[in-house]
Amino acid sequence: MKAIRGAFLDFLYDPFYKDEQEAVRYLTDGILVIDGEKIADFGSYEELGDKYSDVETTTYANRLIMPGFIDTHVHYPQTEMIAAFGEQLLEWLEKYTFPTELKFRDKAYARQVADRFLNMLLANGTTTAQVFTTTFPQSVDAFFEACSERNICMIAGLTGIDRPGLAPPEYLDTADTFYANSRDLIERWHLKGRNKYAITPRFALGSTREQLDRCGQLKGEYPDTWVNTHMSENHKEIAQVAEAFPEAKDYLNVYERAGIVGPKFTAGHAIHLSDDAYRRMSSSKSSISFCPASNLYLGSGLFMIHKAKSVETPVLVGVGTDMGAGDCFSILRVLNDAYKVAALQTQKLSVLKGLYLATLGGAKSLLLEDEIGSFDPGKFADIVVLNTRPTPALAFRAENAIIDESRPVEEQRRERMEHEAFGMMMLGDERAVEATYVSGNLLYQKLGNHIH
Ligand SMILES: [Zn+2]
Repeated sequence: MKAIRGAFLDFLYDPFYKDEQEAVRYLTDGILVIDGEKIADFGSYEELGDKYSDVETTTYANRLIMPGFIDTHVHYPQTEMIAAFGEQLLEWLEKYTFPTELKFRDKAYARQVADRFLNMLLANGTTTAQVFTTTFPQSVDAFFEACSERNICMIAGLTGIDRPGLAPPEYLDTADTFYANSRDLIERWHLKGRNKYAITPRFALGSTREQLDRCGQLKGEYPDTWVNTHMSENHKEIAQVAEAFPEAKDYLNVYERAGIVGPKFTAGHAIHLSDDAYRRMSSSKSSISFCPASNLYLGSGLFMIHKAKSVETPVLVGVGTDMGAGDCFSILRVLNDAYKVAALQTQKLSVLKGLYLATLGGAKSLLLEDEIGSFDPGKFADIVVLNTRPTPALAFRAENAIIDESRPVEEQRRERMEHEAFGMMMLGDERAVEATYVSGNLLYQKLGNHIH
C-alpha cells in the first residue's frame, strides 16, 4: 500500500444538474490510499491520517490532485500532423490525414508513434482516451501493445473506411475485411487487462451501407464493446451524407439504421443537430464528444453544450481533443476553447462544470464510471497532480485574487481554489501537470524547477 496526501478535487454529481457546491468534493487536506492498482480508501487526513500512519505517503503541498483527465475523442496516428494549415474537414482529410495514416501500414512505425502519443497524453494528465486508429489492423495491435505495457485504460478500434473515392485506394478496407479484422482484434484485445474495444466506422460518409451494417452485426455479436465515430461535424460533409444515404432522415439516422446507436455509442462533434436528433441521442443514452479545439481549428462550428446538457434532452457529454484536427493534447486547453465556444453563444462554462466534463462526466459518457472518473474506493488509481500556478502569469493572478475575507475560512478556501483552478483551465496546459499516476503507478513526473 501507499498513499498520497494533499488537496483533492473530484465530483460526486453532475454540476450541470445539481448545485455546484453539492456536486463537488473538495478536501483541502486529504489522503488517498492505493492498494495495488486501485484506490483502497479516501477521505480527510484528519479522519484517516492515524489509520494509515504506517503507510508510505507522498505529500504534494500547494497542489491540486484530481482524477486523471479523460479524452473521449482523439486520433493517435495524427500525432505527427497536428496543426496542419488551412483546410476544412474533407479537404484536410485528403491533403494531410490519409497520406500520414498510410504510414501506419508499418507496425514498427505505428508502435513508435503509439508510445510517443501515450507519453504525451500522460504529460498532459490524460489517463484514459477513446482513440481512432487506421484501416490497418497492425496499427491497432501496436496501440494496444503500448497500452498493455502501461496498464492504462484506453478504448480503441480498427477505423473503417471503405467508400471508393473517400480515401486513397490503398487506404480503403472493405466491409468484409473490416468485419473479419475487427472480430479478430476484439477477440485479441477487448477486456484484456484494461484494454477496451470500440467498433469504429470512421464516419458515415466514409463507409458504405454494407460496412455500417457490419458494424451493427459486430455490436450484436459483442454487445459489451463500445462504438466510436464522428457525426454532423461540417456542413459540406452533412450534405454529402444526405446524398449518400437518401433513405436516412438525417445523419444520426444513418447510424440508427445500422443498429449501433445506444449506450456506449459516442458521436464526435455533433455540432449541427436538430432538436429531434437531440431527443433521440438523449433517449437512446448515447454520448457526444465535445471537441471545441478541433471545431474551431477546422472552422466546423459551435457545439451547443447548453442543448446537450439541457433538462429537456440531457445527453451524456465528454470532452475530446480530437488531436490532430484539434491543435493540442491538453484537456485544459480544450476546456479553454469550450469556455469560448459557450461564450459565443452567451453561455457560461464554470470551472467546476469544465472539470466535471474532463473527469467524471467523461467517465459517465463512456459508461466507465465504475472504473474511473473519481476517487471512490474500488476505482483505479488514475490520478493527475496539478500545479495551479505553473507560470508567472498564473502565479501573479493567484496572488492577487480578490477573496471576500468576511466569509468563513472554509468558504474562502473554496473560493480561492475555484479562482486558481479557473485560471489553470484558461491559461494552463502541460505546464500545469506535475505528475500522473496510472493504475497506482507514477508514469509521469515533471522534471526541473517550478515557479511557486
Ligand atoms: Zn476526430
